[in-house]
Amino acid sequence: MAPQALRCCKRALNWLPVVFVNLVVGWSYYAYVVELCVFTISNHAERISYLVIFHIFLMMFIWSYWRTIWSVPASPSQAFSLPRAEKELYEREERAEMQQEILKKVARNLPVYTRMPDGGIRYCKPCQLIKPDRCHHCSTCERCVLKMDHHCPWVNNCVGFSNYKFFILFLTYASLYCLVICATVTQYFIKFWTKKLPDTHARFHILFLFFVAALFFISIVSLLSYHLWLVGKNRTTIETFSAPVFTNGRDKSGFSLGCSRNVTEVFGDQAKYWMLPVFSSQGDGHSFVTRLVHIDPEQANSVLQQNGKRWRWMLGGRGDQMAIRFNGNTGIIGFSN
Ligand SMILES: [Zn+2]
Ligand SMILES: [Zn+2]
Repeated sequence: MAPQALRCCKRALNWLPVVFVNLVVGWSYYAYVVELCVFTISNHAERISYLVIFHIFLMMFIWSYWRTIWSVPASPSQAFSLPRAEKELYEREERAEMQQEILKKVARNLPVYTRMPDGGIRYCKPCQLIKPDRCHHCSTCERCVLKMDHHCPWVNNCVGFSNYKFFILFLTYASLYCLVICATVTQYFIKFWTKKLPDTHARFHILFLFFVAALFFISIVSLLSYHLWLVGKNRTTIETFSAPVFTNGRDKSGFSLGCSRNVTEVFGDQAKYWMLPVFSSQGDGHSFVTRLVHIDPEQANSVLQQNGKRWRWMLGGRGDQMAIRFNGNTGIIGFSN
């Protein structure tokens, strides 16, 4: 098969999990609205209130799911591509150390603070660019993705800087959608086992509705809890498996600025947008404030005071010595052992 056709087949297959989720949601809609609310519930007020609550959560779930799927993964700007002269030099050069020298020269003018495990500049050969901090190349999307978290098959998209908030909201509303179904179906589920439901085919839809919603609720809530923990720690899934390497060494919490600032970085500082799938994350995805570098000197004192206890504990625990260098001109502070 021609590579082009093979690629088309692969792209089509990648949509299967999304189709599966849509089929399950479509069936749950039919089972809840038609079989439960229309055919089973006889009390008019109960039916209306269930339908209103169900549709509110369904709408929020579909909205955030839609935005997670269709957000184009943010890629590094042109500033991170090698200039033409350096690109030609890089391609002609065969010695790895000389290639690194070329990259180092270009990276000097870029806000890049993380390195390869061997200390080299992070460079993406397929995209021909210097990777910004927290950016990774996704082989499925075939591009570099800013603040890449992971490639999610359930949304057939990369979860990263452009849609991480939408992804969290998708998990939140999906769990609430399942919870609403479980909570309202429970009494009819009990009636099924006590044989108090009319003997129609609606009985089996109600039975499966409860089981499927409970099963999805448990798995989605586990994933949501993990990602809320990651938000609080300001870590991506990739960074939990491989801690980012700074010029001073590996630091799994290098981007953490304290729980509330970490949450603000993803959700923004305006509470009215937190629960809506509209983009409100802070920054441009290319550079991130870290606790090691890039802190404004005026903020440095308060950050140090806030983290004072933690630093003292860390220093006491590890027995390291720490030197703090202030550079008033560039606004950079650094910690070194
Ligand atoms: Zn790339
Ligand atoms: Zn991807």
